[in-house]
Amino acid sequence: MESIFSDLTEEELNWKAEIDDYLKNNLGPYIDDIEQGKMDIWDVIRPMGKNGLIGISFPKRFGGLGGSYMQELLFSEQVCYYSLAVDMSRLSSTYPSTLIRTFGKTRPLKHYISPIVKGEKIGCFCFTEPEAGSDLSRMKTFAKYDAANEQYIINGEKRFIVNGSVADILIVYARNGGFIVQSDWDGFEVIEEYNLMGLHGLHLGHMKFNDVRVPKENALFYKEIKEEPGEKRLGKTAAIAGLQNFLGPERAILSAQALGVAKRALEIAIQYTQERVQFKRPISEFEGISFKIAEMVTYYEAGKALVERSVKNIEDGHFAAMAKLFACQAANKICDDALQCLGGIGYTNKYPVERCLRDVRLLRIGGGTDEIMKYVIQKGIYRKIEKQQTISDMPKSTFFSAADESQEKED
Ligand SMILES: Cc1cc2nc3c(=O)[nH]c(=O)nc-3n(C[C@H](O)[C@H](O)[C@H](O)COP(=O)(O)OP(=O)(O)OC[C@H]3O[C@@H](n4cnc5c(N)ncnc54)[C@H](O)[C@@H]3O)c2cc1C
Repeated sequence: MESIFSDLTEEELNWKAEIDDYLKNNLGPYIDDIEQGKMDIWDVIRPMGKNGLIGISFPKRFGGLGGSYMQELLFSEQVCYYSLAVDMSRLSSTYPSTLIRTFGKTRPLKHYISPIVKGEKIGCFCFTEPEAGSDLSRMKTFAKYDAANEQYIINGEKRFIVNGSVADILIVYARNGGFIVQSDWDGFEVIEEYNLMGLHGLHLGHMKFNDVRVPKENALFYKEIKEEPGEKRLGKTAAIAGLQNFLGPERAILSAQALGVAKRALEIAIQYTQERVQFKRPISEFEGISFKIAEMVTYYEAGKALVERSVKNIEDGHFAAMAKLFACQAANKICDDALQCLGGIGYTNKYPVERCLRDVRLLRIGGGTDEIMKYVIQKGIYRKIEKQQTISDMPKSTFFSAADESQEKED
């Protein structure tokens, strides 16, 4: 099956053929071992780093390929054809390096970028806390500046963090800043690694920061605010403000990941229904099955169109929220219908469809839930109507994070 992206250039098509070949040989054969806990997920990701495939869009001097955002999307889509867990772990690892560059801190913090991009070190991205999920304005993690030692002292807790329990380099968001933190510093503690419904092999961590001292230069941004007790501390934070440019591109990638998983399940269902004979006919000849395939393909194509639209309007996070909402729901439906088409064998692990279904379910939660995507979308629509703009003419500034939205409600 072709990529979800149309109108690819010759260069992009060649790149796709190259990565298809790489992943077929270097990822496909190991998925079952990762799933069954016989192999660590990073044993397949680390070698990608040696080939510039962890941070594709990073310049070559950092160990990347100097590639485009489209190359990143194509790679994510294709890795997810094999394993969403692998791509989530790979991509989440790059976020500290990405944000160092986004915040213009390459010069003082460049020593962190290459080891992550080359796969020598593992990174992670810490936003979510026990009390702050969809509503990041409830974040408690706080950084206190110690002027005498030119250090920040971080206290707080983070949970549901991809790579969190195995990471070397963390980007930690506090109410008043974003910081690059090393896991080998005093005061960092892994509380737990979660067992998951799907995404087996992925290291999802719950961690604690007990007076972790961070050198001044490791702050990506910092805003001095009072550490007030009680509910008053739930103010609009610098952390939330720093999110805006990051979420749109991230959500477009999550949408491409969802369709990458769906593509695998769809392909299997189409082939299986043509081969499986019941009542003297291939089951594809029964409308109960063939109409399911028709719906699955339609959802897949509609998802593709929305993801392409979001990528073409990547500065406008409103489209990325729509793409994430629809593509992730579509992918869930496709994987569930694919399992139904396979009957009993679909419920076993003889085919990867049951794994696709368990894995892809996460994407309706992670990176912003379905409900929060709807909140972001409707808010954008009403704002647009207020400004009397057309639906396709959504201004960049209408995209707010879920946290901003919920904070607006509180204010
Ligand atoms: C496998 C996995 C990987 C993750 N990776 C990371 C990571 O690397 N880094 C990171 O920082 N976080 C990560 N997360 C956290 C993820 O982003 C959050 O789980 C998600 O944002 C939801 O937050 P929550 O779980 O606290 O649910 P809650 O916010 O408590 O939501 C519970 C339910 O209430 C609904 N809800 C909440 N507010 C509203 C509202 N205003 N209107 C309507 N419904 C609402 C939600 O949609 C949801 O259905 C990950 C989570 C998982 C499970």
